[in-house]
Amino acid sequence: MKFHSLNNPSITASFKQAVVAGIAPDKGLYFPDSIRPLTKSFFDNIEDLTDHDIAFEAIHQFVKGDIPDSVLREIIANTLDFEFPVVDIAENVGALELFHGPTMAFKDVGARFMANCLGYFSKGQKEEVTVLVATSGDTGGAVANGFLGVDGVNVVILYPSGKVSDIQERQLTTLGKNIEAMEVKGTFDDCQRMVKTAFLDCDITDRKKLTSANSINVARWLPQLFYFLFAYKQTKSKNKELIFSVPSGNFGNICAGMVAQKLGMPVKHFVASTNANDIVPKFMEKGIYQPKPSTATISNAMDVGDPSNFVRIRRLYNDDLQKLRANLSSYAFTDEATKKTMKKIHSDTGYILDPHGAVGYLGLKEYQKTHPNTYGIFLETAHPVKFLDVVEETIGYSPAIPPQIQRVMDKKKRSHAISTYAELKSYLLAH
Ligand SMILES: *Cc1c(COP(=O)(O)O)cnc(C)c1O
Repeated sequence: MKFHSLNNPSITASFKQAVVAGIAPDKGLYFPDSIRPLTKSFFDNIEDLTDHDIAFEAIHQFVKGDIPDSVLREIIANTLDFEFPVVDIAENVGALELFHGPTMAFKDVGARFMANCLGYFSKGQKEEVTVLVATSGDTGGAVANGFLGVDGVNVVILYPSGKVSDIQERQLTTLGKNIEAMEVKGTFDDCQRMVKTAFLDCDITDRKKLTSANSINVARWLPQLFYFLFAYKQTKSKNKELIFSVPSGNFGNICAGMVAQKLGMPVKHFVASTNANDIVPKFMEKGIYQPKPSTATISNAMDVGDPSNFVRIRRLYNDDLQKLRANLSSYAFTDEATKKTMKKIHSDTGYILDPHGAVGYLGLKEYQKTHPNTYGIFLETAHPVKFLDVVEETIGYSPAIPPQIQRVMDKKKRSHAISTYAELKSYLLAH
């Protein structure tokens, strides 16, 4: 499969080239040249397939030519060794729990898949690849865990000092080996700016092969479509029209769901649920895309003021706003509404939502007000324990710490404190 830059369709790349470069030379996002639907019998018989078989069929066309089938099966088995249950929490409402992986957020799937692909592409290569990534929280841990010990790949993670949760910080600073954490005196925007500057700095790129591990990278973005299919498989027998509500920040996750729909998965409608960072809800209402500086909220992984994957969604609908509106609704919610929902769901059902999942739940209920006879799934994108302070304060109860989190709790933090781009640059040139 060929990919092309969304800025200029004549700039093309194979899957391997797109993964290794991360972003096109003209800074456009890569997008597949075609998305060929799977057969009707695939969906008719999906309940007879294993998750690994489903994932293989779904991603095969995108990687064919660059990854042999036997290797792809291995990569999928390494990526998907945990559960993706849809848990009924109310009438016609299910939570798709994406937090049963090693770092307890959905980003484990994309990060592991990408790490395995890059590990395969780097085998036998003399030149090492450096993955440079900025995180506002969950990406760092997932990338650190996914890339740990991958030969030929070094990882440098930038995170804003004091602005990620204690558990998130431990997940990205305690692993060592080929993972280096840069603790930046500044905000997430500062981290992201440093990463972007490095990608444009010939002093660095002439000497080092750099790539990104954000959802702009196709190997992190596309595998996120797997669990939409797993959710469909689990809920198909309900015989109801299916709605997905996705708590969204950079819009990579929901965009992958839309690719699953293009593959033929029956979905009635998508809901993009956001916090106060309401660029997309505003766009859906007014047709004007107006990025703005991000606002800090309790669902911090969605504090994005210029969602990078939204261009891919526009492309999926050929930039036709009417067509997009027919398939996507988008709503924004305040922290107050989010907390109120966390409290209410806990007291009514005993289920503990994390702040991101709560935003997803709210968006789903908003849509179901006018579409009651549907089955709605909201994505529970992280385990509530990752946001312990907010959860404790809101519901007055603290969830038990699961073993994969406990494991990092008493490890020693190792990070490299920096405050300027020059410091990052000299680090990269020296290592
Ligand atoms: C990253 C993240 C999101 C946002 O996902 P996007 O693909 O950027 O829209 C939502 N919830 C959690 C917990 C996250 O870590």
